[in-house]
Amino acid sequence: MTAVATAVPAERIAAAVQGERLWQRLMAMARYGETAGGGVNRQALSPEDIAARGQLIGWARARGFRVFGDAIGNLFVRREGTDPSLPPVVSGSHLDSQPAGGRFDGAFGVLAAFECLEAFDDLGLVHRHPIEMVAWTNEEGSRFAPGAMGSMVYSGALPLDRALDATDATGMSARDALAAVSAATVDIEPRKLGTPISAYLEAHIEQGPILEAAGLPIGVVTGIQGARWFEITVEGATAHAGTTPLASRRDAFQAAHRIIAALNEALADPAGPTGPTRLTIGRFELEPGSVNSVPALARFSIDLRHPDSGQLQALAVRVEEIAATLAAPCTAACKPLLTIPARRFPDRVVDLVAGASQSLRLASMRLPSGAFHDAQFIAELCPTGMIFIPSRDGLSHNEAEYSSPEEIFTGARVLAVALAELAASIESSWKA
Ligand SMILES: [Zn+2]
Repeated sequence: MTAVATAVPAERIAAAVQGERLWQRLMAMARYGETAGGGVNRQALSPEDIAARGQLIGWARARGFRVFGDAIGNLFVRREGTDPSLPPVVSGSHLDSQPAGGRFDGAFGVLAAFECLEAFDDLGLVHRHPIEMVAWTNEEGSRFAPGAMGSMVYSGALPLDRALDATDATGMSARDALAAVSAATVDIEPRKLGTPISAYLEAHIEQGPILEAAGLPIGVVTGIQGARWFEITVEGATAHAGTTPLASRRDAFQAAHRIIAALNEALADPAGPTGPTRLTIGRFELEPGSVNSVPALARFSIDLRHPDSGQLQALAVRVEEIAATLAAPCTAACKPLLTIPARRFPDRVVDLVAGASQSLRLASMRLPSGAFHDAQFIAELCPTGMIFIPSRDGLSHNEAEYSSPEEIFTGARVLAVALAELAASIESSWKA
């Protein structure tokens, strides 16, 4: 049976996707690093990650797909196109998890892409561009920092040597951990870092409550919000809590409290608490930390996120101003720790995903991603988009993370239609 991708109706492509096969693979994958609480602990480049990679390679070889790997351990599985010289359309996510992670974060996107390759093979689909599944190395960053290591190195955002020099809590380097991965996964064809990709589409669980609350099966992701992290250190002077009048204190906590109250007010989203601005103070320390001493030092973190780069920058400027002006009689230093610009996906990819969903008569909504994903970095290389499916109770990075077999199946069907269309159309209509 042969079917040319451009001429195949969406329903026929979607009908080749086997929900039960995908669900069984997800459950099989969840056994690598499974936890007593029903979740997964499969940290990057661990023995569990190596076993999961071995499983995936086994499935790929059984199907006759070629397997490629690069210098940071990103894994590619390829279904050939009629023109093998063209850069592939790529889809995937990551196989590593948080220490108390769930069964779907990352694994869904990898295995949905693999299911699409199998579905296209079952259908005998003919596409000009090769189509590849990818499993990016170390997206979570819980063992080796930074996260999204594989996609950052691939896209050039992080030098390979800096990634390989990262060490885990035991002092083991990513270089040595990766050597163990290479030793265990043999006969993989080499792939050069940064090898061109024609388009990238990542399916992922939403990891938030929006789709579930809206009762919608598909989220068409418009982009990924940016983030700015700061560490604010307020310095005052310690003094006796009983003998020092309030007027003569330089109380670092009270100054930090004023700053935080002003931040909450100044950075409040104009759309109210359901708006897109996210301000989080996740860490707060006081010194000397004694019940009966005025604190001499307060140090706290700020995690600020917004889907619009310009607005994010304006909010970050406010953080610095407020810290500088409200600390008196103490002093405050505001140290930037991280800047990740907001990423808007190109309209043509967003529209293509929305169209794929519509062609299957599925309701969808457009939304930005609240979490970071590999797509953020691959978007530097090629037109990029993402598809979200609902997460029960919005839970993720949690053993109880859950999406139903039906939701998984639906997401994979939309992914298949979108990928087939990309592989058929991108060369003719999208050539820059
Ligand atoms: Zn993820």
